[in-house]
Amino acid sequence: MNKIKNTFNNIFIETKFKRHYKTLEILDNIVENQEIRYIDDILSFMKDNDGAINPDVRSKTLFLGGMRGEILRKCPGSYGHICCNYSVINLYIGCPINCSYCILQSYLNQPATIINVDIENIFSNLRNIFSASKDRLFRIGTGELGDSLVYDDITNYSIDFVNFFTEFDNAIFEFKTKTDKIANLLKIVPNKGNIVVGFSVNPDIIINSEEKNAAALDDRINAMRLLIQKGYLIALHFDPLILIDNFEYEYETVIKKIFSQIESKKIQWISLGAFRYTTDLKKAIQSNYPDTKILAEEFALCEDKKFRYLRPVRAQLYKFILNTLKSARSDVPVYFCMESPQIWNELKPHNDQIKKIVFGDKI
Ligand code: SF4
Repeated sequence: MNKIKNTFNNIFIETKFKRHYKTLEILDNIVENQEIRYIDDILSFMKDNDGAINPDVRSKTLFLGGMRGEILRKCPGSYGHICCNYSVINLYIGCPINCSYCILQSYLNQPATIINVDIENIFSNLRNIFSASKDRLFRIGTGELGDSLVYDDITNYSIDFVNFFTEFDNAIFEFKTKTDKIANLLKIVPNKGNIVVGFSVNPDIIINSEEKNAAALDDRINAMRLLIQKGYLIALHFDPLILIDNFEYEYETVIKKIFSQIESKKIQWISLGAFRYTTDLKKAIQSNYPDTKILAEEFALCEDKKFRYLRPVRAQLYKFILNTLKSARSDVPVYFCMESPQIWNELKPHNDQIKKIVFGDKI
């Protein structure tokens, strides 16, 4: 069940987009009356309001405007770690789900959640990029700086994206979510086979303690079932895997639950990533979520200046997940997110399909 209501205390709108149809559509879908203020320029707004912001506070202020800069960016990856060739579009910046481990806490400092309403600019840029590189397969998502579907009930963007991507044979688009906000997706048929809805999954014990406003696991699985019936492909992200008491029992329960209800051939890929953090993120977690236990393990500093569980511990966690997936008769391609070459070499999770889809046959 959706826990997020999408109510805001303040709304700022970039003047240029005051009468833009997407702005009006979003305002129409926000039921309560808020004070709306118009501002000339997003950059000066950000500069004037710079500072550390609690994610709860940020999600109560909404900014609607157009984003500058590169539209399609390569996911930055992590120095010394294998990258999965993913590209991202910043449609949303900020996220009201408030996961305790969220990396956004350490590098977003704007005081508002931003929704980019300049959709024509996004689509015309993407059209040019896809047309100029017809031999390349693009794997793209909107879930890097916020959840891809958490605001979908006010933006209706999922419908625009599914329709847009039906034009292209060389692009796969992924919505990444921890919600079950799929009402819009169920209204349309994805007839190209290039739309993937990726669900991040974790045991309910973690969802309840660390993913404050996310949907329960059963609700995510139910959403997967409905989407598959409609013709969507699914992806699973076990990321972050968190070392908890009864790790094996808890994660085995998740895997069994999913594979007893979801046909594995409808799952395009599975990613695995153990919990990791930077020094800045640690400070943010300690300040925003003082009761969390996720930092109470032994961690090692890695080449990319992120702390991770010790390598043998990570290898053990991954081995357990890979074996449990096998026992659940999953033949879904698996890749690691931001993992070291040593872990890749030791566990060799990929197969030919993952090499093609995720790495363009480069590894
Ligand atoms: S859903 Fe993703 S973006 Fe949103 S708070 Fe959680 S980790 Fe961050």
